Amino acid sequence: MNIPYLLKRSTRARMMRLAVYPDARVVVTAPHFSGLGTIERFIVKHSDWISRHIARARGKAVIRVQRRKIAELKKRALALTSARCAHFATIYGLNYRKITIRAQKSRWGSCSRAGNLSFNYKIGVLPPHVADYIIVHELCHLAEMNHSKNFWDLVAKTVPEHKTTRAELRQVVVVYD
Ligand SMILES: [Zn+2]
Repeated sequence: MNIPYLLKRSTRARMMRLAVYPDARVVVTAPHFSGLGTIERFIVKHSDWISRHIARARGKAVIRVQRRKIAELKKRALALTSARCAHFATIYGLNYRKITIRAQKSRWGSCSRAGNLSFNYKIGVLPPHVADYIIVHELCHLAEMNHSKNFWDLVAKTVPEHKTTRAELRQVVVVYD
């Protein structure tokens, strides 16, 4: 079995470590004293685990974000969500107060009882239909503060394919360069 991998040498590592990144890259972190033969044997020994994790990672949609561009992404997210919220709020006849862009790890958006909306700054790197789904989802919470049938019926008025879009969103993995 020949698995391409990235070898990282570490002065701190006392044992070899194995990781499969969300973009399916295999990374081995090894102490300086480990020879290549030992590393290769380590990989072969864990090949089943590696294959499983590569397969899992490949089912994902990996989106790359450059850390130095975060400020730019925040601006882009605000411009996008402002425009799309205004568009959908008109269709629904809903009013919101303020839009805030946040640096959240796993949440894409939220809606407060006071009528404020917040969105993850990474929303601008998502495919437009996925970003629209997130925006519509939070807007509809202005009318329905729950995930009831009424809520989903409301979402479906502008995003009828919301189920598949949600599934798509769950496959999104953001990696930082
Ligand atoms: Zn919700």
